Order: sequence, then structure tokens, then C-alpha cells
Amino acid sequence: MLSYSTQLISQDDIDVVVEVLKSSFLAQGPRVAEFESNLAQYVGVNYAVTFNSATSALQAAYNIAGIQENDEIITTPISFVATSNMFVCAGAKPIWCDVKSDGNIDETKIEALITPNTKAIVPVDFAGKPVDIQVINSIAKKNNLLVIQDASHALGSGINNEKVGSFADMTIFSFHAIKPITTSEGGAVLTNNKEYAEALQLFRSHGIVKKELWNSDMIEMGYNLRMTEVAAALGSSQLKKLDAFIDKRNEIAHYFDVRFKDFALFKTQKVEDKQTTSRHLYPIILNAKLHSQKEAIFLELQKQGLGVQVHYKPIYQNSFYQEKFGYISLTQAEEFYRSEISIPCNQTMDMKDAQYVADTVLAIITQYSKAH
Ligand SMILES: *Cc1c(COP(=O)(O)O)cnc(C)c1O
Repeated sequence: MLSYSTQLISQDDIDVVVEVLKSSFLAQGPRVAEFESNLAQYVGVNYAVTFNSATSALQAAYNIAGIQENDEIITTPISFVATSNMFVCAGAKPIWCDVKSDGNIDETKIEALITPNTKAIVPVDFAGKPVDIQVINSIAKKNNLLVIQDASHALGSGINNEKVGSFADMTIFSFHAIKPITTSEGGAVLTNNKEYAEALQLFRSHGIVKKELWNSDMIEMGYNLRMTEVAAALGSSQLKKLDAFIDKRNEIAHYFDVRFKDFALFKTQKVEDKQTTSRHLYPIILNAKLHSQKEAIFLELQKQGLGVQVHYKPIYQNSFYQEKFGYISLTQAEEFYRSEISIPCNQTMDMKDAQYVADTVLAIITQYSKAH
């Protein structure tokens, strides 16, 4: 099965992991700090603070930003649930903003949603395509809001030669198995703000500071959300290959773009000239007349060996959210959910695989458009 996204682990990754397993530190050794320094350098920011997942990183970021009961956060419904879950955990209310046809938050609709309770804007770079951060940052500045960017898809993406991770107050990345690079499970918050970095470090590690000799002091409430040495060593090894992974995914994506250019039955995600994308996903957006056939198309693609997936059911449509916040409807987000299929585009594929994927997608969708 060719997967919409998957990890690529090679011998050098295995070697560094084995080396850590044979070393004296499995936790709280030098590898975590090393990985953090590598990450910060790659993205071009001052601080990277790692966590055992991006979900933990989101939880920490919202907490140290002071998000609390009755605060509101403007965010996108087209994301993995964790983006909203972690501020609902903090007692805050998600205000979902509609999206554009590329799956990213519609920045022109943000300002109308701001109230005296709004504390932050939380955009997600869908599929790796950077959100319009310039506009989002200027709205935030004008209204005294924080920008916390969930860039779980977008490690290595950028705008005008600057990397995603250097634009927002805090940016979250995920190193879950199928994200742009992996530590098996893992995540990080990147920031240029020293106070945030220190608060994040306390939050992930019991709120304890070391004093002298055996004496330490717990000065804040904290958790244990730390990354292991094994994970961090894998992360540093993977990070060396990130650009090669991205080049490979872009090579496949460009090939798809050409194959699909004149095909009228679906659209693809357009990336602007000034933008680069990690291509975490390659979404196709079916025309409305194919919506009734989407289930059949999805099943047939799977049957032909394409590990497709749909990203995402709008978060507010999950039963937890419906029960807690009631009926919500956003036209474009729901249209996007009805239309989207993520097709295989990952760094383990060769161009023959890519050709097979393109041929199969074109043939099946043509066939079902006729059946309609
Ligand atoms: C994967 C993902 C997360 C959660 O990441 P984990 O590392 O699995 O906790 C959060 N937000 C988005 C947009 C994601 O894609």
C-alpha cells in the first residue's frame, strides 16, 4: 500500500538509536539539548523546547501563554482535534474561523470574530502550505493577541527564504511517525522569546528548578512531558535528511501538478511562488458533482493499493464538541471536508510509484464521473 504519508527510517537512524540504548542516559541526557539546538538552528529561531508529542507542546504553549477559563481562541476547524482540544482543556472556548479553498484559515474572516475575550489566533499550515502569516500577525498586533501557530505539518516550509517557526510568538511542530520527520512520538515549541522558553521548560518538567547540590525547588505546577534521549537522537538524525525528504515529496507533487493541470474533475492545492512547502500531504479537492461518489472513489482507490485518507472532519462536528458547544456550521470548511482526499505522496515513493498513483487517480475519478 502506498501511504498518503509515512516515515523513512534508514540504517543511520537505527545506528544512533542503538548507540543511545547502549549509553548511560536514556532520559535527561545530552541528546535532547542537542536536538533542540539543531532544530532552532534549522528553523532560524533562538529556542526550541521539545516535548513527548505535539499535543503536549500545544498544551504547554497555551498554558504558559496564560490561556484560561472563558478566554476565546480563533482557530481553524480543518485540523487534527488536538489543536482545539488543548485549549478546551485549559477552559478556553474555540471560535472556529472558516477556511479558504486551500484548507488554510481565511484570514479575511478573523477580525469579525474578535471579542474582548479573545486571547490568541491559532492557525494551522494545512498540508504544509504556510498560512498567510503576515496578515494574521498584523491582525494580532492591532488587537493585542498572541499568534500560536500549529505547524505540525510544516517543518521545513517557508516564505521568502524564512522558515515557518520564525513568524509566530510560538510555533508547534509534530514528530509523530508520519509527520515531515519523526522521533516516533514527539513535538516541539519554537520561539524567539526567552521567557516563553524558560516557562515551557518548567511546564514540561514538574515546574522544578535546580538549585545547589541536591537542592531543587518546585516553583510552578508542572508535568512530565519530556522527550526521551532515544527519540531526540532519532530526531537529530532525521533532521539531517529533512530537506532531502521535502525535495522528494516536492518532486512527486510537481509531477502530480503537471499530470492534473488540465483535469476538470478536481483541483489541487496551489502554492505561491514566495512559499515553499513540506508537502506533508497532497490533497485533491473533488468537484461538487463528485461529492456523492466520494465514498465509492475512496474505496476504489484503496482497492487499487492507494493508502488515501481524508483531512479533516471539521473539529466542531465531533460529538464531544457538538455536545459542549452546540450546532456550528461553516460553509467552506464543510465544502472542503466533502471534497478533500489526500493521495500518496511520500519520500519512500519513486517516480514509478508516482506515475501509478496519478494514472490510478485519473482513471478512477474519470470512471466515477461517468457513473454519476
Ligand atoms: C499531528 C498533529 C497534531 C498532534 O501531533 P502529535 O505529535 O501526534 O501529538 C496536532 N496538530 C496537527 C495539525 C497535527 O497534524
